[in-house]
Parts: sequence; C-alpha cells; structure tokens
Amino acid sequence: MKRAVETKAASGAAPIPYSPEEVAEIFRRFAVQRPSPTTELEHTNLYTLLVAVVMSAQMTDTGVNRATRGLFPRASDPAAMVALGEDAIREAIRTITFANAKSKNVFRLSQILVERYGGKVPDTREALEALPGVGRKTANVILNTGFGKDTLAVDTHIFRLGNRLKLAPGKTPEEVEEGFLKIIPEGFLKNAHHWILLHGRYVCKARKPDCGICVIADLCRADEKWNDVPAPLKELPVSGPGLQGVPQDRVAG
Ligand code: SF4
Repeated sequence: MKRAVETKAASGAAPIPYSPEEVAEIFRRFAVQRPSPTTELEHTNLYTLLVAVVMSAQMTDTGVNRATRGLFPRASDPAAMVALGEDAIREAIRTITFANAKSKNVFRLSQILVERYGGKVPDTREALEALPGVGRKTANVILNTGFGKDTLAVDTHIFRLGNRLKLAPGKTPEEVEEGFLKIIPEGFLKNAHHWILLHGRYVCKARKPDCGICVIADLCRADEKWNDVPAPLKELPVSGPGLQGVPQDRVAG
C-alpha cells in the first residue's frame, strides 16, 4: 500500500504521491549518478560565479560561457570590473539577452562590492538580494554553490520537475522551493539543486522527457512518463551510497 508524504509544501496543498522512502530513493539515485554535481556556468572565483549567474537570466549556460570567456580574463574581481567600465562590459556580453540591463547591473553591483564589502561577495541572503540584478534565485545559487548552504534555487528546470513529477507542485518558484525543501532529506539538500537541474536539462526535458534512460523511471509518477517500467519498488534500502548523513527518521518515514 502506497503512503503519501504529508508535505506542507504549499499551504493547503495535497500530499504528494510519494512515500518518504521513495523520495529518499530518488535522491539516493541522483547521488549515485552524479556524486559531485556543480554548475555548468564557467567561473574562476565566487565573484565571477555571481556575475555569471546574474547574466544567466533568460539565457543558456552555454551562451553565458561564450560571453564571459572574453570578459573574465579582463576582469575577474569587482575592482577590475569597475575599472573596465560599463560600456566595455556591454560590448563584451553583447551576444547575451538583455545585455544593456545586465551590463548596468554587473557594473553597479561591482561598485557596491568594492564600496561596502571590500571587494568580497557577501554571504547573507539580505545582502545578496540588495545587489542590482540579484533576486532570490541568484542569491540561492550563490549561497548554495558559493557558500555550501542548503538552499535550492528554482530555475525553469526545477520548476518544471517539481510540478511534472508532483514532488513539489506549486504555482510560483517560491512554492516549488518550499515544497522541495520540505521533502528532501537533509543529507541531500546541498546537491539537490544541481541534481534536479541537470536531470531536467539532460533527461527530463521540457518537450519530450527521455524516460528510456531515466534512473528514477520506476518511481516517477509524472503524467508525461511514456515508457513501460516495473511498478514502484516495494522494498527500498535505508542505507548505502548516497544515504550517509540522512536522518533515518526522514528516510524510513
Ligand atoms: S520517467 Fe520520464 S517523466 Fe519521469 S522523471 Fe524520468 S524522464 Fe522525467
């Protein structure tokens, strides 16, 4: 008999159709598949990561990387970026979307980092979100990838998977974020952002998911699932690769 997770992902939301064991198993498999996931945005330090993430709004990582390969060798810290100037930044990133607004934001946020933070990237959500061009998603990426905090930035892939797989349904990125944070076992939180994002980018794609190569196909309850795989596992491991550090009460439900 399947049990539903009593999630409070979004107030008033129905329980999701996965047991705690199944949720843990999904993330255990992601952990085995990608033991050390990280961002595909090229960067040389925390500051260039921040700039790359600011530039990635409405833009593919590949497109951002193409632009920053010409920019970061010339300016890899806030002071150098300010010295480079807004016009030169705009010219360097002219191939990406909203180049005008993004070059303005990068220039201004670099000025603020120099003036208020000694050229360092701050490690609090409040300080990050106060920077031009930095919203909750960007702050979450920096807190997670840069400072190792258990945050989950909801991008287009994570929003789609939260809803498609019914793991963290929500109408807004905040609802999906809240839903995932409620169900992901603690030991998996640090890497969950990249696991879900990469799964969405390379397997559970927007137009047609590649269910035939999906490592969680037997567990998945997406309406879009098209392959015929065995019924969900009845007995699931409560230890093993990827489960270290996961509180057993969360795993065993
Ligand atoms: S089985 Fe298909 S729909 Fe489900 S997670 Fe895998 S790729 Fe996505």
